[in-house]
Order: sequence, then structure tokens, then C-alpha cells
Amino acid sequence: MKGRFRTVSRRDFLATGASCFACAVFAAGAAQAPSRRTRLVLLGTSGGPTPKAKGAAPAQAVVVGDRVYLVDCGDGVARQLALAKLPVRDLRAVFITHQHSDHNAGYGPLFLLGWTAGLSRPVDAYGPPPLTDMTARLLEAYRFDIDLRMSDEGRPPLAPLIRPHEITAPGEIFKDDRIRVTAALNDHPPIRHSFAYRLDTADRSIVISGDTRYSENVVKLARGADVLVHEVVSRDYWERPGRSQPPSVVRHILASHTDAVDVGRVAADADVGLLVLTHYVPTEGPGTPTDDEWLAAVRRTFKGRVVLGRDLLEL
Ligand SMILES: [Zn+2]
Ligand SMILES: [Zn+2]
Repeated sequence: MKGRFRTVSRRDFLATGASCFACAVFAAGAAQAPSRRTRLVLLGTSGGPTPKAKGAAPAQAVVVGDRVYLVDCGDGVARQLALAKLPVRDLRAVFITHQHSDHNAGYGPLFLLGWTAGLSRPVDAYGPPPLTDMTARLLEAYRFDIDLRMSDEGRPPLAPLIRPHEITAPGEIFKDDRIRVTAALNDHPPIRHSFAYRLDTADRSIVISGDTRYSENVVKLARGADVLVHEVVSRDYWERPGRSQPPSVVRHILASHTDAVDVGRVAADADVGLLVLTHYVPTEGPGTPTDDEWLAAVRRTFKGRVVLGRDLLEL
């Protein structure tokens, strides 16, 4: 199947027949009451920092009624929100899984650009160190524009609208009347503070793995969850000679991420209701696994429902 990484409308996606499981999820979603039903929108599903022609960088939105909760801020996340028709002014909290640039390059621009799109109430941002320092330095880096728009356009100060909270330990990190967020340390060497998040709402439990190799902590966090969104790499691809990345990068990929067969093991061990693949490495180029190949690898270890994630897919 082709076109997994192109932007798809619901109609396009249904027409591809890419996954009957995804079709079933769409149908179920459409039938439910709209107001408080928890929505999961995959904003970016490609992995790694290299800019891609066919895919956006990692980010997920969990939407409960008129509130948006964001997990990871890959490059271009502000525009992906716009494409998904999720207003930045509805943003309530941001959760960064770890401080690799493919997961945080859009963090500063999200606020800098979202500010001009009507962001008016403070947003809590959670993530590993150095989140607080990064936030301060990003505000300093764009001080010229921020000061100018405050004086010239009458905009409110930006700094009070971002409330960074650094997390270094697992456990419940956020709760309001619609969602509870729990963090678990995953396994993404050499980064010490790298997290998976579980978001529980009244009607759904969604786990985002972050970047990790097979992790018992992720299995525990995801136990019985409705949805597990898990990163994936192809060991077969990276073990073949002649890959586009230098050997040191290939070593990192193989040591710090999860092969598709093992992603299936995580889903099976956690007994999740739906497995969603994301953060494909590789995403594009010669030798990249086809949709059928990704799916076949996962199927070796997981017999439940699987969706091949793609940008702007809503589940
Ligand atoms: Zn990554
Ligand atoms: Zn990473």
C-alpha cells in the first residue's frame, strides 16, 4: 500500500482500505456523542530529527471536549494543530517525553506562534530537564519579536502563559477534571530521563510510549489500556549494509528503539485494546518497509487490533 505518510482525510483513508481495523475505529468514533468523547489525533508519525518530505515529526493530541493535551512537540507541531483544526487557544497542557530534538523542536514555536493565534490562558508544560532553562532561553531568543508585538500589537506578555514543570521521577504528574496523566521511565539510552505517558479520561486510556527499546515499565504502564501508541523501528532495515546513516547512528537506533516484532510483544504483554504504530524509523527512502511488512512483523507477536499510524489520523 502506498501513501501511508501523506496527509489523509477520513474519506481518503477509508478509500485506501489500508486497515479494516482503522475503519472500524473511525466508524465507532463517529457514532459516539461528540462533546466529551476523548479523541486521539496523530499529528506527526515520522521518527528521527532529519526533515522528511513525507511525514511530520512526532506529536500527538488528546482532545477531551474543548481541551487539547499535547504529547511531544516535533518540528511543525503548531501547523499540524492548525491542519487538524485544533485551536492553540484550547491547549491546556504539554507533555514532552524526552529532550531529543525530533520531540521538542516545535516546543518554542508552538508558544511563539500560538501566542498570536489567541493563546490567552497559561499552559502547563511537563518534561524532563532542562525544560525550565529551555523555556527561558527560547523566550530570550525571540525577545525582539515578543517585545515588539507587545508594544506594537498590544499583545499580553508571553512568559506568564508558559508554566514549565520538570519531571525526573515516575508517577502521576498532572490531573484536572477531565484527564489524569501518569509518567513511567522508559528505556532510551543514553538519556536517563525519558518517559512514557498514560492519559486516562472518563471514557478512554491512551498510552504514548515515547522513544524506547522494549521496556517492562511501558508494559506495566500500558496494562489493559484502550490504546497504545508505540514507536517502531525496522531492525532488518538497519542491519543491512549501506544504510544512509553513519555506523554510530545505526548503533544508537538499534540500541535505543524497538523493532516491530518487539512492539508486538509489548502490546501483547500489556494486553492493550488497540496498538498504533508511530515514529517509523526509517520513514522514507529506498528499502523502507512497506505497510504490509510493518504489519507482518507486528503480527508475529500480537494478534489484536493494529493501526498503522499516519499524520493527522484521528482515532
Ligand atoms: Zn524520536
Ligand atoms: Zn529519542
